[in-house]
Amino acid sequence: MTYGQYFLEATYLVASILFVLGLKGLSHPDSARRGMIMAAAGMAAAVFGTLFHPDIHNYLYIAVGLILGSSIGIPMAMVPMTAMPQRTALSHAFGALAASMVGIAEYIIHGTSLGPVKMGALGLEVMLGSLTVTGSLIAASKLQELMRGTPIQFKGQHLVNLFLFLSMVTCFVLWLLNPTTAAFFYAMTGCAFAFGILLVIPIGAADMPVVMSLLNSYAGLSSAATGFVLSNNVLIIAGTLDGFSGLILSILMCRAMNRSITNVLFGGFGAVVGTDAGVAGTMREVTLDDVAVQLAYANQVVFVPGYGMATAQAQHACRELGNLLEERGVSVKYGIHPVAGRMPGHMNVLLAEANVPYSSLYEMDQINPELPATDVAVVIGANDVVNPDARDNPKSPIAGMPIIEVDRAKSVVVLKRGKGKGFSGLENPLFFKPVTGMLYGDAKSSLTNLAQAVQKV
Ligand code: NAP
Repeated sequence: MTYGQYFLEATYLVASILFVLGLKGLSHPDSARRGMIMAAAGMAAAVFGTLFHPDIHNYLYIAVGLILGSSIGIPMAMVPMTAMPQRTALSHAFGALAASMVGIAEYIIHGTSLGPVKMGALGLEVMLGSLTVTGSLIAASKLQELMRGTPIQFKGQHLVNLFLFLSMVTCFVLWLLNPTTAAFFYAMTGCAFAFGILLVIPIGAADMPVVMSLLNSYAGLSSAATGFVLSNNVLIIAGTLDGFSGLILSILMCRAMNRSITNVLFGGFGAVVGTDAGVAGTMREVTLDDVAVQLAYANQVVFVPGYGMATAQAQHACRELGNLLEERGVSVKYGIHPVAGRMPGHMNVLLAEANVPYSSLYEMDQINPELPATDVAVVIGANDVVNPDARDNPKSPIAGMPIIEVDRAKSVVVLKRGKGKGFSGLENPLFFKPVTGMLYGDAKSSLTNLAQAVQKV
């Protein structure tokens, strides 16, 4: 080995260690920022080390790629937190496109000389990569509302999908048996691109985070397969970490919604609306001053944030109100539902950004037993995650999804702009209960105004 190759292997080793430590750091909000920095440093080390690869003779294309990639990546990183899910979907599409293109290029350059094992890995890489590209682009379009968020379904859809899937796998097998017939390889790639689209269009926007995490897992496995083809250890390690963490995350999200992965992929969740016909009555509107008095004289207040807090960017205003109440001797807690918002950990990230101490954040299972003794539960732009229909109505499409049971508190105040529904498109009986008062308005201004009103009490 040359010095350059020793250096390359050493940077890959450092990068792999940083990826593992980074992932470990991401498992807790306290260490998440450090974990992110470690993972980014690992990626920088892997990219830098690759520049010493003996097969690289011309740095011009790499320089062009670096400029092009950075000029797309930097503006993409600047999107607001609310657009993070669709941004992540786009990143998956780019990563998977890179893996597919490397696979296709390797096949064009080396052809059958790769041998059956590497060709098998290359086929998997291109197949998983290609379906992840189109699937992620559809997911990003649904989340960005460039296309309809509700499931797009047609007669015989499952059969068409099955046919496409079998065609893709058959082309893959035929290509392995007849490696010189490139037509099978390209037919497999075409089927994978089409399958990615058809796999994701029947899934509703509400399920996109699960789909993305699954696609993330496919993109990771595709990168691991690329690592086998290129005999690149860091790609195998990073791809496997990515692949399995994505899979575990999908399973955890499904558990938090009490649904199976097959139900998410084939259930068409969100296509059926109107199963909340049992909701009747009127919503009781409350005034800012009433709520301020209730909060100021409470013993315990629990804030339950949801997607609306993210859109309103109300986390700082929430923390300021919380601080004010604590100064008055009120016990303030934050109840966090695992799928509140639009991505896992969405609320934790926002509240950490606003310097809410981690010890004040309570997971759903910890906060639910506290609610009957809570004087006021303040729902900040949350809807589905506090919908009692999930618990009480077995016919509801979200039946069985664990919720934060704010309706068990002595009083509930819901901060939202109007009568908009939750992401599942369902009406929420919580808003019609006698215990609930509706404080309409943008969450940030409502919280800021509440803080001012509490100071006057
Ligand atoms: P949600 O059900 O989407 O409801 C958000 C509510 O916020 C809306 O009813 C909206 O009502 C209100 N809102 C929007 N902008 C606002 C603003 N500026 N100020 C005040 N209120 C505002 O949110 P959620 O309760 O957090 O539920 C998350 C949903 O995503 C669930 O269905 C969950 O299953 C799904 N999901 C999440 C994940 C994840 O990883 N987080 C994964 C899979 C699925 P108005 O329009 O009336 O204001």
